[in-house]
Amino acid sequence: NDAAAARYVKEVYETVVRRNPHEHEFHQAVKEIFDSLIPIFAKYPIYMEQGILERIVEPERMITFRVPWVDDQGKVQVNRGFRVQYNSVLGPYKGGLRFHPSVNASIIKFLGFEQIFKNALTGQPIGGGKGGSDFDPKGKSEGEIMRFTQSFMTELYRYIGPDVDVPAGDIGVGAREIGYMFGQYRRIRGANEPGVLTGKGVGYGGSLGRKEATGYGCVYFVEEMLKSKGLSFEGSTVVVSGSGNVAIYAIQKATQLGAKVVACSDSNGYIYDPEGINLETVQQLKEVERKRISEYVKHHPHAEYHEGCSGIWSIPCDIALPCATQNEIDEVAARTLVANGVKAIGEGANMPSTLEAIEVFLDNNVLFGPAKAANAGGVAVSALEMAQNSMRYSWSFYDVDRKLHDIMKEIYQQSVEAAEEFGQSGNLVVGANIAGFKRVADAMLAHGVI
Ligand code: GLU
Repeated sequence: NDAAAARYVKEVYETVVRRNPHEHEFHQAVKEIFDSLIPIFAKYPIYMEQGILERIVEPERMITFRVPWVDDQGKVQVNRGFRVQYNSVLGPYKGGLRFHPSVNASIIKFLGFEQIFKNALTGQPIGGGKGGSDFDPKGKSEGEIMRFTQSFMTELYRYIGPDVDVPAGDIGVGAREIGYMFGQYRRIRGANEPGVLTGKGVGYGGSLGRKEATGYGCVYFVEEMLKSKGLSFEGSTVVVSGSGNVAIYAIQKATQLGAKVVACSDSNGYIYDPEGINLETVQQLKEVERKRISEYVKHHPHAEYHEGCSGIWSIPCDIALPCATQNEIDEVAARTLVANGVKAIGEGANMPSTLEAIEVFLDNNVLFGPAKAANAGGVAVSALEMAQNSMRYSWSFYDVDRKLHDIMKEIYQQSVEAAEEFGQSGNLVVGANIAGFKRVADAMLAHGVI
């Protein structure tokens, strides 16, 4: 059975590579998930017989579209927009929109594929999707951002809806962009349907606790991992990469739990503050002034700024929370972290560790919280935002935060149990993949071959 399962997974993987040539990130995400699923096919051959893997890896649809807009010089610009509607068996497609020059079909498909299983793990009724554009928001004026996002929505609106597909933010898309997109959607539709987007401002249908959710959730997840070994955040040294929405609230929660966060970064470089990062300064710089993180040292001269991003992983720490972007921790960075005694990793970003880096962590018994479990808090609270929109009601911050905390504990528990059931105790990569997959696969079996 094991050999048949391994052969099946290999064959489907080869088809994926053949059908999607040169899509490195997509192959990487598929490989990570597929490899951990072999034992489940061996134990439950029905998934093989019903072609679940072939079906799950092929998006229900992938939409690519033109986004024309006029820049401040009056010049016409054209970007490419994407939305992958990957799997809707558990609910409306759900997943963020990323605006970053690196965005292409491979990036969108890797994120969308991960999103299916992440969303399943939350236990909420949401399918998997993802989208975005290769538009670079860096250095753009307010007017350019607005014109671009409006043009993006002018095309996207026809594919989405509160019961169909519900986008949210991701890299380069925050409350400002969601606000402009919601405005444009409302205008075109001629109806106020708040459930069509999540991550909205709290003044017009957004949920309290949504902006904190990914960062807080990641810390809650790591807290559970630490507890299992009698450890905690209290008195620990933490390195967080990134300085966006995920990083900021991971820093805040880790600090509240008694940790000292000594570093964070942006795409140009990182800051090291041995006294502990002053979060107010970071928030002022990144959320209000939209400046580079290098400016931090002007406010705190005892801190250091270093160009480049990979150096952040050579800072000794107990806990590392990669909250910037994909593949930011490679094998070399992982070995450095291990050599410096890291005890736990919590992936706040999507796929921040390469396959080789993950192997290094697992081989060295580092507690490893994989992205689709550790960063699921954001999309989980997005689902709570949808629920509140459907009820035309809003919960208090306290209520949302408590639900988030319970969901993160539940994801941890499910992942631990799934890993144990398949004889890989402590391997949360395998545990999260299997637990998420099983929920999606069982629903697909129930719906017949579609
Ligand atoms: N972009 C986030 C993620 O990667 C959030 C998606 C959402 O809230 O729909 O999960």
